[in-house]
Amino acid sequence: MQIRSDLFPTSPGGSVWDGAADVAGVVTERAGLAREALIAAIVEETAGKLKYLDDHYLHIAERERLYKGPDRDEYFMPMTEAETIAEEGRKAVDRVVAKWTSHAALSPEVAAKRAAMTYRASGADRTLFDACDLKDRSLLDPRFGATLTLRFLISGDEHIGGWAREHGFDITPGSQEERFFLTELAPAVLRESGEALVRFGRFAFVGAPENVTDPRLLINTFVWDPDADGRPLSRRDTSPEVVAARQRFRWQFWKRIVHECIHTREHPRFAAARLGTAFDIPLAEGFCEFFTKMVIDEVLATPETYRAGVEESGAAPGRGPDPNIYGPTPYAYKQEYAPMAQRVENLVGPLSVEELAAVFFQGHVELIGLSPRGVELAPLPDGMRGSVTVPEGVTTVEELAERTGVARGTLLEANPGVEADDLPPRMNVPGWWEHMLLVLPDGTRESPAQIAAQHGVTEQALRAANPGLRWNELPDGFPVLVRQA
Ligand SMILES: [Zn+2]
Repeated sequence: MQIRSDLFPTSPGGSVWDGAADVAGVVTERAGLAREALIAAIVEETAGKLKYLDDHYLHIAERERLYKGPDRDEYFMPMTEAETIAEEGRKAVDRVVAKWTSHAALSPEVAAKRAAMTYRASGADRTLFDACDLKDRSLLDPRFGATLTLRFLISGDEHIGGWAREHGFDITPGSQEERFFLTELAPAVLRESGEALVRFGRFAFVGAPENVTDPRLLINTFVWDPDADGRPLSRRDTSPEVVAARQRFRWQFWKRIVHECIHTREHPRFAAARLGTAFDIPLAEGFCEFFTKMVIDEVLATPETYRAGVEESGAAPGRGPDPNIYGPTPYAYKQEYAPMAQRVENLVGPLSVEELAAVFFQGHVELIGLSPRGVELAPLPDGMRGSVTVPEGVTTVEELAERTGVARGTLLEANPGVEADDLPPRMNVPGWWEHMLLVLPDGTRESPAQIAAQHGVTEQALRAANPGLRWNELPDGFPVLVRQA
């Protein structure tokens, strides 16, 4: 597996930005023309996309008109209701992902914050903010504005992003592309489509400014029909069709919350690694939406648990569950995330679902070939966990057989050409793999108990397979032997 080609195949890979300065730092005439062409294409494509969303799909200008008009309460959900649904989303996420997050190594502050996290729409420690409300928006990080929305479109939108890829343009942090994006490209787009981008962000976008340490979430309270081209739904209309459409909307809203809440369960190391790459948004969204589907499909097998909290009060009693209300099952990836989530799903095979969960929830980014800071590593030979580092002190096949319980003959067969008393640094040991110990920059480290739980083995067995280790002193990335459960 190679992370770039498998997880971000539309990237130009080894190709270079055609607008890059030369080695002397000079932007040649040719590079200058390429830069102009890129700006022109993205300005035009972004304007076209926003107009399309407004005219045909999201009716953003209509949302703004309703929000500013006298009937706002008829079309926008009160934040108290949003809070109740959001909490149902959070509970669903934690019910499914706790089996992974509870064994993740997190610094004490992050762990405490996450354990205490709820979705609250009021009070000093509120976590839910109304994206439509300018005052609410002003309380959040100002970076969460039009420039970030544009960056999101460049990463996620097929057409807008297509032009970036055409030019070999990757916004890697600290790169000249990022500088060009911030000083030339984004300002040009904002001059042309700034108002439309802001309106799009305000009335059609949800998100969290910073997921890892701060779960504050901007949500959209506009009530619309998911099955009728985003048509506004009156909250006062009591006709059965409109009530049913509102219930569909509320499940849709709950699903968005599930997605956003999963972002807040991302491991800090996964975040640090993806932020070091040019494809941080596809990585974040791809993994998040992949697990969103997993949570929703699992929870919707027994929707009754969540129904009272999600649906409008008074609507549920006496009525049996209606699958039409929950939307398509199994869950279909949200359109703009589908290609990203599909690429993550395609890794199931080379990696197990448990391993993908270890990447996202437990920070084991080495499994997808990333260093902790996002450097793309050479793919590991023979699969991600096909071989193990021969432990220190083990020098012969007999010793390795004794350590692992794998017969001498089996070991020699699995490692053709290897001499019994001259072992290479790595060996195939059937039924065993290695775990790279995770130590965070602040010194937080995985405990033997956490590692054992991550692999479904007992701590005693893990310690026995790795005798004599000083667990509190091992460096980040130290190879630990683990028997496959
Ligand atoms: Zn997301």
